[in-house]
Amino acid sequence: MNYKDYIRVIEDFPQPGIRFKDITTLLGDGQAYRAAIEEMKAALKDKQIDLIAGPEARGFVIGAPLALALGVGFVPIRKSGKLPGETVEASYDLEYGKDKLAIHKDAIAPGQRVLIADDLLATGGTIATTMDLIRQVGGEVVGASFLIELTYLNGREKLDGTDVFSLIQY
Ligand code: 5GP
Repeated sequence: MNYKDYIRVIEDFPQPGIRFKDITTLLGDGQAYRAAIEEMKAALKDKQIDLIAGPEARGFVIGAPLALALGVGFVPIRKSGKLPGETVEASYDLEYGKDKLAIHKDAIAPGQRVLIADDLLATGGTIATTMDLIRQVGGEVVGASFLIELTYLNGREKLDGTDVFSLIQY
């Protein structure tokens, strides 16, 4: 499947100069959405994974179906102040702007093997922070899987040599 046909590029969103990859058009097509998740799952077939962690909000729409397809649990990484239990938090820079992410302290048992999933790898800031949070609560990061990778931003370099898979590259 040519997934790029299902992704809409929107100029100057959310700021002038950004060419935003809009995945809502792919999510709105049941066949393309399912095929993308199935292909992301197939790329992980040799990996032993206990949990998938995904940052809000688009990390949920990729990470949760991938977790269901693999038969493993899902750990939501949320913006600061959203999780009800005891959390660990970390700040980070975005491709545009700044943010703070949080994870429940007890979301991961010591040594559990965690795969990170998100819609898009840009500068890698979101995922580097997500990795940091997973490690802080005792998890082992075994890889990161993305629907889209913006290769020209070299986000992989921020991820300490972690195994990275992306279905679509720009
Ligand atoms: P990074 O932290 O790697 O610079 O940015 C990745 C995060 O920003 C992802 O969580 C992703 O949802 C969001 N993001 C940045 N640029 C885009 C884009 O062009 N399209 C989409 N869908 N998300 C983006």
